[in-house]
Amino acid sequence: MSDTLLEVREITKRFGGFVALNQVSLVVARGERLGLIGPNGSGKTTLINCIAGALPTDGGSIHFDGFDISGRAAHQRARLGIARSFQIPRPFHSMSNVENLVIPLEYAAGDRHGGNVDAEAREILARVGLSDRADKSCSGLTQVDMRRLELARALAARPTLLIVDEVMAGLAHAEVDEILAILQEINDQGITIVMIEHIMRAVMGFSQRIAVLDAGEKIADGDPESVVGDPRVERAYLGE
Ligand code: ADP
Ligand code: MG
Repeated sequence: MSDTLLEVREITKRFGGFVALNQVSLVVARGERLGLIGPNGSGKTTLINCIAGALPTDGGSIHFDGFDISGRAAHQRARLGIARSFQIPRPFHSMSNVENLVIPLEYAAGDRHGGNVDAEAREILARVGLSDRADKSCSGLTQVDMRRLELARALAARPTLLIVDEVMAGLAHAEVDEILAILQEINDQGITIVMIEHIMRAVMGFSQRIAVLDAGEKIADGDPESVVGDPRVERAYLGE
């Protein structure tokens, strides 16, 4: 088993004539906590969409767990172990929190039927601190609890790689710490995490390494201290 879980090789993504990603390469090691930062519009979510298979690329290749997944559909990548949260959570509002996990859980199980899906759903809700609201409708959740549910939905796919896209945006200081603790625990259980985040104290404290995008290009990649001290990174943020 190689130490590399994900390898993005020089991927390019265009929207019409606009180049959203220009030959971006990125390697993520098994078990790693990687921060992905960059000004608004720099291509972070687009990169995640390309990795998860929500968007086709216009060049380059993506390798995951030893497979070239470049041509695979999003659901195949999910089955291989790639899960992501969405910047704007979209749960099924008519369902309870536990019911919201049943569909991704049954889907992740694929051919191996038989497990107790309800018990698994409750176990995942416990991991994100939503046990006491398992049977309540998700439409009544507070903002921080909605983020917990979004994490739970991603975990229900039983991922080896979890990509979280600004899952802490708009939360209060203490709530950010709660989500960080959940993510740290998920990582402690062996799940590799890529964190897209604007809250610098969160991404700096959490990440073992940080990669920076600016205008569709990777401009830095290294340990958090040297990356934030990099003049190119400072310039990228000054223009924001
Ligand atoms: P970030 O997540 O870093 O804020 P995005 O990846 O969302 O940035 O967007 C990068 C650039 O690509 C932006 O200029 C955005 O407007 C553009 N973009 C993203 N998605 C689309 C799309 N589906 N169609 C056209 N342009 C898009
Ligand atoms: Mg984004």
